[in-house]
Amino acid sequence: MHKGAKVYVAGHKGLVGSAILRKLQAEGYSNIVTRTHQELDLTNQQEVYRFFETERPEYVFLAAAKVGGILANSTYPAVFIRENLLIQTNIIDAAYRYGVKKLLFLGSSCIYPKFAPQPIKEEHLLTGALEPTNEPYAIAKIVGIKMCQAYNKQYGTNFISVMPTNLYGPGDNFDLETSHVLPALIRKFHEAKVAGAPHVVVWGSGTPRREFLHVDDLADACLFLMNNYDSSEIINIGVGKDLTIAELANLIKEIVGYKGEIVFDTSKPDGTPRKLLDVSKLFNLGWRPRIRLEDGIRSTYEWYMQNYT
Ligand code: GDP
Repeated sequence: MHKGAKVYVAGHKGLVGSAILRKLQAEGYSNIVTRTHQELDLTNQQEVYRFFETERPEYVFLAAAKVGGILANSTYPAVFIRENLLIQTNIIDAAYRYGVKKLLFLGSSCIYPKFAPQPIKEEHLLTGALEPTNEPYAIAKIVGIKMCQAYNKQYGTNFISVMPTNLYGPGDNFDLETSHVLPALIRKFHEAKVAGAPHVVVWGSGTPRREFLHVDDLADACLFLMNNYDSSEIINIGVGKDLTIAELANLIKEIVGYKGEIVFDTSKPDGTPRKLLDVSKLFNLGWRPRIRLEDGIRSTYEWYMQNYT
């Protein structure tokens, strides 16, 4: 991508899209196109075609998606499968029809089988059953990958698919019903500290292991891959290390400065037992994350306090 190339960031208000937009601006890309949800309904095919016909972007970051944590996914499975299928199908097809030079599709680590060998390699895709709590979302993302590959094969497009691990950072969703674990725990510990509450409830057993990548590192990796990776094969983006939910809870508790107890609510689901990505493919290309988890949580906590409290 040259600095004057026309780049469309789909989903620029979201956690991932806003980080990609910040990164593009910081790197001096001067011709970035965005549309808010109100301006362009990505589930509407005609609107999406019209947008691509008028704007003719050269590069597309497909970061628009319906996303949510374990509870949101299991409560609204129909919404998750429908919206994601529509958004990605419309954009991928429009990118082909209107001659986009390269598209980067954001997948997710939940596309891998629930009991995939750890760390999870790219080739483990479609080798086993998925985690049921987010299967509809994962199936939609798998369709997106297969669609990019099919278009590359049949039409000679250059559509790449990247699989980020669990993400966090500024712009995260802190709604306790729909958020992922890391922002939820920042909020829970902060509110408990302010209220002087004796304990904080953490869902599940605390034993599942998760890997966390700061969204600014993800954005950096996405630009790196847009400029350095041309293959239909999917590629993982992560940090290569994980920790238990209990360890994460203790780390956040310490950063927030909460002095009470942690109580595990085992009536809530654990989800998949472990989800650590094998990032050797990406690391072999020369990319590395820069933000340590502790520093990332600290700055995300500051962002939360400035924007939510
Ligand atoms: P997942 O990675 O797709 O399973 O999604 P989440 O980030 O929502 O959950 C990760 C793990 O954190 C699961 O084992 C949850 O049960 C656990 N967890 C503990 N406390 C919370 C919480 O307050 N909110 C959420 N979303 N998950 C929590």
